[in-house]
Amino acid sequence: MTYFEFTKRFPDENSAIDFIVETKYKDGYVCPKCGCVHRVYRQKYNRRFLYCNNCKSEFSALKGTIFEHTHLDLRMWLYAINLVNVSHKGISALQLQREMGMGSYASAWRMLHQIRKAMENEEETFNCLVMLAVK
Ligand SMILES: [Zn+2]
Repeated sequence: MTYFEFTKRFPDENSAIDFIVETKYKDGYVCPKCGCVHRVYRQKYNRRFLYCNNCKSEFSALKGTIFEHTHLDLRMWLYAINLVNVSHKGISALQLQREMGMGSYASAWRMLHQIRKAMENEEETFNCLVMLAVK
């Protein structure tokens, strides 16, 4: 995906959040607390969260993913995954830092490390799905 194609597909952060959440819960939302599947909804004020109307609890829709603890715009993550996917020779943390205009080499390195780890881990099928879809 070129940068232009990427910005068309993900024009704002909510479109990136929606894409990740809908990929993760492609078979429907599940409450991690009570297991309810019928009364779980997206929070309108913050699309990173889901709300279970059965046990009245709120939880992060990104729990258990590489996106769970990030403070970065999720478009940055998706674009980084895209860069890793399209670079046949592999991408270095320095390249990633330059390409994404990230202030710190350490955060670029951490991001790349987490993406590679998720790609290698077959159990993290969700991460693989996201990575395959962002191409
Ligand atoms: Zn619940």
